[in-house]
Amino acid sequence: MPEKIRKVGVLTSGGDSPGMNAAIRSVVRTCAYHNIECIGIYRGYQGMIEGDFKDMGPRSVNNIVNKGGTILKSARSLEFKTPEGRKKAHDNLVKAGIDALVVIGGDGTFTGGLVFNNEYDFPIMGIPGTIDNDIFGTSHTLGYDTALNTVVEVIDKIRDTASSHNRLFFVEVMGRDAGHIALNAGIGAGAEEILIPEEDLGLDRLLDSLKKSKASGKSSSIVVIAEGDKIGKNVFELKDYVEANLPEYDVRVSVLGHMQRGGSPSCFDRVLASRLGVKAVESLLEGNSNYMVGLQNDAVILTPLEQAIKGKSEIDRELLRVSDIMST
Ligand code: ATP
Repeated sequence: MPEKIRKVGVLTSGGDSPGMNAAIRSVVRTCAYHNIECIGIYRGYQGMIEGDFKDMGPRSVNNIVNKGGTILKSARSLEFKTPEGRKKAHDNLVKAGIDALVVIGGDGTFTGGLVFNNEYDFPIMGIPGTIDNDIFGTSHTLGYDTALNTVVEVIDKIRDTASSHNRLFFVEVMGRDAGHIALNAGIGAGAEEILIPEEDLGLDRLLDSLKKSKASGKSSSIVVIAEGDKIGKNVFELKDYVEANLPEYDVRVSVLGHMQRGGSPSCFDRVLASRLGVKAVESLLEGNSNYMVGLQNDAVILTPLEQAIKGKSEIDRELLRVSDIMST
């Protein structure tokens, strides 16, 4: 570890998420506030290997707080998974005089940071940036709130069509391993049923619930399905299954896809990004390393990177019950 940190590198890695730019801005300006230099590293760990660096002063991040994506670009780097690749990256950091890193991304990004720290004792601080909200140690990851708002807005529009034509819509949202988006956006958008990876609702229950809602006089329904739902059928197989068993339903499928990752960050994500960026830089300056900054009970706190990687972010089970009651 260096005695005193004078130059901080910042990168975004893995999948992009709204709020990453606001976090970059926060890191850059916190460095300027504390009179230390900040270097932007392009394309995640691949840019570190290639020495793709840029000096970033406080004015270099004007007008990005509201922008989706990441101005530093993101990449997945296979080379960084090799000791040779990491050696090249370390050589470049030393040459540029960078003596600490803020890495913004998901658990893969944190794993890369931890491996790098173990080899070179290089100070690392992680900021959780992924729309899936599947990181232990923070109630919210950057981009999650924006993604929820995007999904709810789209389902509201789908509902207009569903109710005009008395249709059942299956809406697939992101979440291969985590049902946070499906569960929260599903409740927010008034879905009849929500299928998530954490809970096996069972096909019989789904059919039963749809039958009941038809019998209770509902003319249209929305079912929100996470990509990795426990039932194990993809959304189109599920449509075929439901149509075969409930011929009274005309089922349509909408797969929302990458639109959930884009767009201008919500106010919540902008504020969160600003807070996490300040905490990340100040924690490094206080001599901390190998932590992720995150939010818990509205306080910004540090979680060891190892725990953030290994721990599981649980869904709020009370929401399952709320969803159940709401579809009465
Ligand atoms: P998302 O949640 O969007 O997938 P992520 O940060 O988990 O984001 P990954 O592609 O898994 O995305 O990881 C980002 C990068 O971190 C990888 O491309 C790789 O360069 C680095 N990385 C991941 N795992 C390791 C590892 N075991 N050793 C070294 N580097 C790694």
